[in-house]
Amino acid sequence: GVPEVPVRPIAERRVSRQIQVGPVAVGGGAPVSVQSMTTTRTSDIGATLQQIAELTASGCQIVRVACPTQDDADALATIARKSQIPVIADIHFQPKYVFAAIEAGCAAVRVNPGNIKQFDDKVKEIARAAKDHGTPIRIGVNAGSLDRRLLQKYGRATPEALVESALWEASLFEEHGFRDIKISVKHNDPVVMVAAYQQLAEQCDYPLHLGVTEAGPAFQGTIKSAVAFGALLSRGIGDTIRVSLSAPPAEEVKVGIQILEALNLRQRRLEIVSCPSCGRAQVDVYKLADEVTAGLEGMEVPLRVAVMGCVVNGPGEAREADLGVASGNGKGQIFVKGEVVKTVPESKIVETLIEEAMKIAEQMEQDGVAS
Ligand code: SF4
Repeated sequence: GVPEVPVRPIAERRVSRQIQVGPVAVGGGAPVSVQSMTTTRTSDIGATLQQIAELTASGCQIVRVACPTQDDADALATIARKSQIPVIADIHFQPKYVFAAIEAGCAAVRVNPGNIKQFDDKVKEIARAAKDHGTPIRIGVNAGSLDRRLLQKYGRATPEALVESALWEASLFEEHGFRDIKISVKHNDPVVMVAAYQQLAEQCDYPLHLGVTEAGPAFQGTIKSAVAFGALLSRGIGDTIRVSLSAPPAEEVKVGIQILEALNLRQRRLEIVSCPSCGRAQVDVYKLADEVTAGLEGMEVPLRVAVMGCVVNGPGEAREADLGVASGNGKGQIFVKGEVVKTVPESKIVETLIEEAMKIAEQMEQDGVAS
């Protein structure tokens, strides 16, 4: 299930309309959801469902699949039916795949009506089919595929160009009374992207799907996304997020969840408070922090574990956490809820922390703290 939102998120959320992507509400105060996109050929139903299962296990709440061919369109019904999480079909240009995706029971469709208008005036029919099936649509404007008319007007993909494009696309549906829409205005430059979403947020009440497009390999992409999403979410802007990384999609989900947890937009789970180490450290902090993180991976309860290299800040931080260790003289003082429960030799620190963490987690689960 969707984890509860803790008491003090970073900001009041912007007021937006709510749409329903399958069972996941987006906008209108619903918790910010995390989504990703499969990298398999959608027509390879087995591989796609396998990847969706992995994404679901990593906490992904909505998944998007590309639909560039008829074979992909044919696969949508089975994928939509068997996926554990709502499936959005991602379509460019071909209206027939939009109808196929709606008929297939996809939870939503990503399509830019501007593309379709150029080929064929099918927008009205799409609006009607989507309305009949209760299928929302994401209008996804990307710097890389900005309308030529707007590129000429603005010279490049400026925030104003992205916003004008998005609102024009939305108006093509609005003409037909269709407003079951969410919007994204992605750019690979977080500064441009943040400005675009801010302007868009002021000019409409549609829920917004945040993304830094082509953010890059995992390290760079994580930072770009965290900075951009942080800037927007700290102003209450953003209803669903997709971290784009040149890395396996489950990594995108992990990063997305961490960003929401860091901003208190989602109940924090395991949190390791470890020091950066310094010349005073009396233990290999990096190794200890890595081992504790690995040992506690997958814990579902909010647990703050302090791993501190020496006794300067060590006992203080360790006391503030649910559980902690302060190292010194080849030993570790283990703290639970502020009390030293034992002192163990360095070689036993990791296993003792894991043991104590399990006890606390069990207790929390009994008390109903788990999400
Ligand atoms: Fe340095 Fe100790 Fe602080 Fe770690 S806790 S950074 S070792 S002073």
